[in-house]
Amino acid sequence: MSTPQTWSAPGRVNLIGEHTDYNDGFVLPFAIQHRTHVELTPRDDRVIRVSSSFDDDAIEVALDDLDELFPARRDEVAEWARYPLGVAWALLHAAEASPDAAPGVELRFTSEVPVGAGLSSSAAIEGATASALNDTWNLGLDRVTLAQVGRRAENEAVGAPTGIMDQMASMLGRADAAIFLDCRSLEATVVDLGFAAAGLELLVMDTGVKHSHATGGYGERRASCELGASIMGVPALRDVSVDDLPRAAELMDDVTFRRVRHIVTENQRVLDTVRVLGEDGPAAIGDLLVASHVSMRDDFEISVPELDTAVDAALAAGAVGARMTGGGFGGAAIALVTHDLVENVKDAVTAAFAASGFTAPTMFTVVPSPGAGRD
Ligand code: ADP
Ligand code: MG
Repeated sequence: MSTPQTWSAPGRVNLIGEHTDYNDGFVLPFAIQHRTHVELTPRDDRVIRVSSSFDDDAIEVALDDLDELFPARRDEVAEWARYPLGVAWALLHAAEASPDAAPGVELRFTSEVPVGAGLSSSAAIEGATASALNDTWNLGLDRVTLAQVGRRAENEAVGAPTGIMDQMASMLGRADAAIFLDCRSLEATVVDLGFAAAGLELLVMDTGVKHSHATGGYGERRASCELGASIMGVPALRDVSVDDLPRAAELMDDVTFRRVRHIVTENQRVLDTVRVLGEDGPAAIGDLLVASHVSMRDDFEISVPELDTAVDAALAAGAVGARMTGGGFGGAAIALVTHDLVENVKDAVTAAFAASGFTAPTMFTVVPSPGAGRD
């Protein structure tokens, strides 16, 4: 028997830049200390078997059948298993390797990343799978390609039309830094955050409101952005600047215009955040975080009352800045808080949730952490 080896990949928090990724724009996520781990045991046959501590049923598929399964017959596989099996499928395509080159494997997942909290448990399971199989099958793919493999699995094997941000953050993360990503060129730059040196903590406030990106408003927002770009005659909203907004307002209906305005101003806020971090440090980015939240609440309309309550209560209790993070419709908000105020902010958010009759939120601080790899 071969001995198992383990790999892991982190979840992520997006500091700023929401829904800009699939508009070819800019994002500024960082990998967090919560990781999904995979224990890999080579098999003697040509089967990939996946199991997770999240789900009782292990799923087995012959490696040679992956091409028949994805994407056409993906519905025959339990949804969660489409993530790792989809990665195996996309990985073999990216490497232009035939399944003959890949021995069977057993993959066992455990995770510290809460699901559906906006921390990208999906990128974590994809990143852990991609790293483990890339090493085990000696495919030699680089980290950016592994991120693209994760995205392809999520888009085509799972059926969730998400962008590349989560996978890039999970693959490229660094301690004490964020990844400034140009989602068009995929050029990634490490940006020092310096939270600890500035006496700041990043508090995650998980509302517990569940969302799924495979269904619902995410796809609708994406369609609005595509419509807005086509009306403006550009390939993507990345190509629309703040100065173009008055013209956009004349050309499109109010709802499409507000979707466009969120993307255009959010792209600018990401650029401004990178500049301010470099010039003035993290304590100076609070107003940009708040402006991002307001834009998502009023223009993109992806917030929910629980997220607004968390942001408002954190700011009232002295947070430097706060915003919802992730795709929206639930999940988590973040607050940038000086070390000495973290407990005050938590108490204020807990009290505000109780006063509104919301289920108590889960709150914890996150630390910018390294990306995927062998444990
Ligand atoms: P998130 O914001 O957490 O990424 P998604 O809806 O994008 O939310 O992805 C969550 C889905 O990913 C889960 O419903 C499940 O299908 C799958 N998933 C993530 N982590 C695991 C895991 N450790 N084991 C099994 N499935 C997982
Ligand atoms: Mg996800």
